[in-house]
Amino acid sequence: MRKFIAKTVEEMPPSGIRKFFDIASEMKDIISLSVGEPDFVTPWNVREAAIASIERGYTHYTSNHGNPALRRLIARYLRERYGTSYDWKTQTIVTVGASEALDLAFRAVIEPGDEVLVPAPSYVSYMPGVAFAGGVAVPIETKECDGFTVTAQALEAAVTPKTKAIILPYPNNPTGAVMTKEQLAAIVPVIEGSDLFVISDEIYSELTYGGRHCSIASFAEMYPRTVVINGFSKAFAMTGFRLGYAAGSEEMIAAMVKIHQYFMLCAPTASQHAGEEALRHELDTDFAQVNKMVSDYNRRRTFVYNAFKKMGLSCFEPRGAFYVFPNISGMGMTSEEFCHKLIHEKHVACVPGTAFGAAGEGFMRCSYASSMDNLKEALKRIAEFVDECRK
Ligand code: PMP
Repeated sequence: MRKFIAKTVEEMPPSGIRKFFDIASEMKDIISLSVGEPDFVTPWNVREAAIASIERGYTHYTSNHGNPALRRLIARYLRERYGTSYDWKTQTIVTVGASEALDLAFRAVIEPGDEVLVPAPSYVSYMPGVAFAGGVAVPIETKECDGFTVTAQALEAAVTPKTKAIILPYPNNPTGAVMTKEQLAAIVPVIEGSDLFVISDEIYSELTYGGRHCSIASFAEMYPRTVVINGFSKAFAMTGFRLGYAAGSEEMIAAMVKIHQYFMLCAPTASQHAGEEALRHELDTDFAQVNKMVSDYNRRRTFVYNAFKKMGLSCFEPRGAFYVFPNISGMGMTSEEFCHKLIHEKHVACVPGTAFGAAGEGFMRCSYASSMDNLKEALKRIAEFVDECRK
C-alpha cells in the first residue's frame, strides 16, 4: 500500500503543550501549571442558558453565520469595548472556538507559498495552521528586552515580496505581553507600506492588567485589512462550549463563511445561546463577572511574578492573559530538560518555551489559571528546584 497521509500532516510535530499535559495526567501528586484554560466554572447564568436552549428544543442547525441575536451582541461588544464598528449581518461570523476562526482566516487568505509572519514565541496553532493552509510561516523573534512586542524594525526585516499576512497575537500566549496603542501605531505604517493583511488573535482581550486592550482594527488604516478573532473560552471561562467569532471586512467574512458553511455548518446551538447570555449579562452589568475573574487572576499574577523575582530569575512582568514566562536560561540546561526534570523531581508541570517556537528557548510558561493554594505549593517546589540546579 502506498503512503496515504499527506506529508504536511505526517511531518508536523505534536503539540509541545499536550506532551507535558499527558505526562502530568499520568502522575500522582502533580500540580499542573501547563494548561491554558480558566479554572473558574462557567458562570451559572450562562450554564442555565445552555440548559434552557436544549429544554426548549433548540437542537438544530442555526444560520451559517450564527444566530442574529448573538451576532448583534458581538457587534455591540466590539463597539463598546474596543471602539470598532462592524455590521453584524455582513461583518461577523460565529465559529467553533477562536480555533476555527483562525483556521478559516488562514484558508481564506493563504495561497500556496504565501509567507505569513508569526511573532514568536506565540500560540502553538499558528505555525501548523499556516502550513496546513499551504503557506509558509515565518517567525519574527520577539525579545524579552522589547517586552516581547513586534517592533517596526523587526517587522521590516522579516517582510519579503512573498509576505501576505501577519498574525498579531496580543495579549500574548505564552509571554503575557500586550501591545499598547503607541506600540501598535509604530508598526501600522510598515503593515500598510508592505500591503499586509492582519489576523489579530484577541482571545485574551478582556484579560489585561493595568490598561484596556487596544485592537489594531481601531486604526482606520488597519480596519479594512484586519480580521479580528475572539471568543468566549478565556474571559467567560467557556472553553468546553467551543464558541468563538471573527469580525472583519464584508469580503473577508464572506470568504470565511464560504468555508465554514461547507465543513462546520454552524457553531453548536446551545453554546450560541449560552454565549448570548454571557455577553448580554456582562454588557448590562458593566462586566461584573469578568471583572471579578480578572481581579482574581491579577492577584495570582502578582504572586507568581514576585515569586520568580524572589528566586533571582529574570522575569518579564506579564500584562495580559494568564501566563508568566520566566527566563530559566541560567539553569545550565535547555527549557525542555528543565521542564522534564521539574515534572519528574518536583511533580510540577510547566511548558518549555520551545513549545511556542525556537524563540522560546531559555524560558518556560507557567499558567496561573490555578488556585492560590496550588500556586503557592507549585512555586515553593519550583524555588527548591531552582536552588538545587544552582548548587
Ligand atoms: N488563541 C490563543 C492565543 C489561545 O491561547 C487559544 C486557546 N488556548 C486559542 C486561540 C483557541 O481558543 P478557543 O478555545 O476559542 O478555540
